[in-house]
Amino acid sequence: MDQSLERFIKGMPKIELHLHIEGTLEPEMMFALAQDNGIQLPFANVEEVKEAYKSYDGLKEFIPLYLGGMNVLQTEQDFYDLTMAYLKKVKSQNVTHTEIFFDPQGHTSRGVAFETVINGIHRALKDGERDLGISSKLIMSFLRDLSEADAFDTLKQAMPHMDKIDGFGLDNPELGHPPSKFERVFAECRKTGKPVVAHAGEEGPPEYVREARDLLKVSRVDHGDRSLEDPALVKDLVAEGMGLTVCPVCKVKLKQSSIINAEGKPDMKLHQLKTMLDLGLKATVNSDDPGYFSAYITENFLAVAEALNLTRDDIVQLSRNAIDISFLSPEEKKQKHGELDTYIKRADIIEARINSSAGTLLQAM
Ligand SMILES: [Zn+2]
Repeated sequence: MDQSLERFIKGMPKIELHLHIEGTLEPEMMFALAQDNGIQLPFANVEEVKEAYKSYDGLKEFIPLYLGGMNVLQTEQDFYDLTMAYLKKVKSQNVTHTEIFFDPQGHTSRGVAFETVINGIHRALKDGERDLGISSKLIMSFLRDLSEADAFDTLKQAMPHMDKIDGFGLDNPELGHPPSKFERVFAECRKTGKPVVAHAGEEGPPEYVREARDLLKVSRVDHGDRSLEDPALVKDLVAEGMGLTVCPVCKVKLKQSSIINAEGKPDMKLHQLKTMLDLGLKATVNSDDPGYFSAYITENFLAVAEALNLTRDDIVQLSRNAIDISFLSPEEKKQKHGELDTYIKRADIIEARINSSAGTLLQAM
C-alpha cells in the first residue's frame, strides 16, 4: 500500500471502542497463566494454539475457544496483567483512549468472584491512565445466550462497583438471542444513568439493530454491518448519527457471509466499510478480539485501507467518527479533534520533507 498512508495510519492518535478484554489473551500469556494456575489446556504448545486461531467457522466455532481461554484467568493479578498487556500493546499503536468490554458471567459462572475480575481490570486501567496516558471506559457486557435472570443477577453483583463501570453492553452469539430478550435488563441498567450499547447486525438480521435501538435504547451499535440490508434503517441511523463499531479483520477471520468471494474464500475487498462511510454512517474501526484474530487496531486500519483503497480523508473520517461516538465528554471530544488536527498538520510537514529530500536525491542521481 501507499507508504505515506501507512505512515499516517501507524502514527495517528487512535480511539478504540470495541474491544473485549478477554479477547486480548495472547497464546503466550494463556500458557503462562495456565502453568501458574495449574489449568490443563486442550493444546500442547503455543504453536498449536496459533494454528487453531488462524480462522473460525463463524461465531459458533469461535465462542467456545474464547470462553475456554478465559479459564486461565483466576486471580485479580491475572486480570490486571491481561489488561495491562493490552494497554502496553496499544500504546505502541498510539491509542489514546479505549472503551473496553468485560464479560463477568464468563468468570462468575466458573467460580471467580465478580470483584476479583473488576478490581484487576480497573486497577490496570487506572495505572494505564497514569503511566501510559491512555484514558478508558469500562463496559460491562451481558452474555446474551444466558438467561434474563442470569443477567439480572449479574447486574445485582455489579451494583457495589458502579464507580468502576461506565456503561453496559450485550455480546456473544446473536442468532436466537435478539436484543428484545434483554429489554427489561437494559431498562434497569439505564436507571443508573450510564449509556448502553449492544452487539447487533453482526450475524443477526437488521431487525436486531432496530431492536437494539428501539427497545434497548443503545447509544451506539457494536458491528451493525447487516444494517446495510435495510435502506430505511440506514436512513434512520444516518439521521440519528448512530455510531457503528465495525471490526474488519474479525469479519474475515469468522468468514462471515457478506465477505465470501466467488471462490468461497473470505475477502476483505468485499467489506462494506467504504459504503458505510459513503452513506454517511458513523462507522469506526476496531479490533474486537485481537489476541484471537492476530490484529490490533493498527492492523485493522491497514488491512481495510489496503483492501478498499481508502484515502487519508477516509481514515481521518473514521477517527473523527470514533471521537464523536465515544463516551468522552464534549470538552474531551473537542480536545481529541484538536489532537487529530495537530497530527494531520505535522504529517503534512513530514511528508513534504520526505518528498523534497526524495526529489533532491533524484536530482543528484
Ligand atoms: Zn465484539
